[in-house]
Amino acid sequence: MVLLLLAVSVFGSTRVIQVPIKSKKDIHRLRRFPIYRLEDNSLQLLVTPQDLTKLKNLGYHYHVLIDDYEGYLSWLKRRGKYHSYHELDSILNYYAKEYPNISRLETLGYSVQGRCIFSMKISDNPGQDEVEPEMRLIGNMHGDEFIGCEIPLYFLTYLLDNHNSPQVKGLIDSIEFFIIPMLNPDGHELNQRYNANGVDLNRDCGYFWEGWGNSPSPFSQPESRVYLRHNYEHNNTTIEYNYHSVQQYVNYVWDYHPHDPPDSAYIVQLSQIYASQAGLQVINGYEWYQVCGSLQDASFGGIGSLAWTIETLQPSNPAQIDQICYENRDALLSVAQRVKWGIYGLVTDSISGRPIWAKVRIVEPVRWHCYTDTVNGDYHKMLPAGTYDIEFWAPGYQPMRRSNIQVPPQGAVRVDGKLLPDSTKYYGFQVVAVKYARHTEDSINTQPYDALGPTDNRFFSLGRSGFIIIDMHRPIRNGPGDDLTVYEGDDGLTEGYTVYVSDSWSGPWKNLGSGSGIQGFDLGSVTDARYVRIVDDGSSTSGPFAGFDLDAIEARYVVPGVCEEREPISGFEIGPNPGPWVWLNYTLSRSSGVEITLYDPSGRSIFKRCFHQAPGHYRLRIDHSDLPSGIYFLSFQTPEVKRIEKIILIR
Ligand SMILES: [Zn+2]
Repeated sequence: MVLLLLAVSVFGSTRVIQVPIKSKKDIHRLRRFPIYRLEDNSLQLLVTPQDLTKLKNLGYHYHVLIDDYEGYLSWLKRRGKYHSYHELDSILNYYAKEYPNISRLETLGYSVQGRCIFSMKISDNPGQDEVEPEMRLIGNMHGDEFIGCEIPLYFLTYLLDNHNSPQVKGLIDSIEFFIIPMLNPDGHELNQRYNANGVDLNRDCGYFWEGWGNSPSPFSQPESRVYLRHNYEHNNTTIEYNYHSVQQYVNYVWDYHPHDPPDSAYIVQLSQIYASQAGLQVINGYEWYQVCGSLQDASFGGIGSLAWTIETLQPSNPAQIDQICYENRDALLSVAQRVKWGIYGLVTDSISGRPIWAKVRIVEPVRWHCYTDTVNGDYHKMLPAGTYDIEFWAPGYQPMRRSNIQVPPQGAVRVDGKLLPDSTKYYGFQVVAVKYARHTEDSINTQPYDALGPTDNRFFSLGRSGFIIIDMHRPIRNGPGDDLTVYEGDDGLTEGYTVYVSDSWSGPWKNLGSGSGIQGFDLGSVTDARYVRIVDDGSSTSGPFAGFDLDAIEARYVVPGVCEEREPISGFEIGPNPGPWVWLNYTLSRSSGVEITLYDPSGRSIFKRCFHQAPGHYRLRIDHSDLPSGIYFLSFQTPEVKRIEKIILIR
């Protein structure tokens, strides 16, 4: 028995090892291993026995720093009094009950092992999606980085406990905070970096994804999909911080690529404000070490949220943990004061006055684009003082340019867009996922957003065997003749690709055929599809424009307002009823608030969850093992629909 246990600890456990390195080249060669710590002459890695074999085969020597990492983490958790998942659950529920007028607790989804992924919204009128900038904090996506939960959780309790102080009240009244303290509850409880499927969630995101960290496809894990849905529902997430350990950095985009985005001067300035308060150093993600599939790249690249990865120490002394939480709170309060600075406004349909989910491009000087909120049509782009030209656009509308916008120092200017419907032009609207295909080595000069909007001969080179998934904003309809046209940009070569469509961003995908250059495609047996996936044929050589050069995707048949004409809810089902628990399935055809309440026969509410959900299929499971057998009533409510179903629980 003793021998068996020993065998497990030697061959089964994760270790922290130290590998001496000579130059940055070694970091680049070892970047796909989970890096624990990076020092001047050595690299500390978090390795499994298989990783050790790979390392030896690469010719590296190492020595073991922590032999039993899981054991070390359970000691650290006890010693540092880090919160468990259940403690987090109770604290959030306590605060939600204590401060119902300024907080709202939501379960965004479930982990692999069925734990809740909580989000606490803090704002005035928390039940409404208001025209306010949104600030998102995400913690503990690496399960072993416990401090990543403590910092956002402490900030949440600080805001609520001090909601009467003038400074905090000002923030709560003007910002919507979304705090997700534990994105990877399974990893946290299992004392491991990965989720319960063994996937590194900070390699599973879709913006220049390349399958690192055991990720089989972009946003493959339930926890990453929770994040992705939150991105879609809150398309105007203005700013985001994502908490990690164990180094001391304010890490800014990009992780995948060495070229800085056009906003980098302002990003670095904001990084320094955070770093000086929190006692951290500013570092560029790629410069530190390259990562493909990171969350911050997806937040900034996909929706234009200014996004950072914060790395702090993870001490075992509770007083030091508190100190780190206080310093990061001060840093967050400093940046929160600035969240409203820049340009903001509403984008609406000039005829109906309805809000539009639109793209906001900052065209002069060029800055990264953002999107309006899917529900309210509001946007908030953080910009320093200066003069800007911006352009609003959404499929089915004529673009609208507003010039000479003056952003005052330490202030904001409101610029609304009223767009004129134009049913003739429907083009790609938003990048959902894109594969990294040597984009740092080869196709360095093109950006995925160049594949959106109309043809303009600015294009995105997919890279050899690369792919991109684009949201067309509304479903493409099957009509007479070709239904969509793929346009190639001119790099002097005609290159081959295959087109797939789906009504879900994650498939299943229907192959519409292969093409080269500019070509039309018919939806065939598909009646409508909102997502288009274009895959390079793998034939091209390397070079600055390797792979198919996607300029635009144009849809021919999309009836304006098609989404609005549909019933918002379909496929509503409840099961097993009678049974030991309840699940419900439904499909939303457009973004909507959803409220689910379970009542006992006397009409007392015993369970209530509120969500704001993007279009898609949903399956929820309500499992309250403490409820006795009997008859209950389940209420399902959106602004348009209310359904009450009788259910029978049998224990
Ligand atoms: Zn981490």
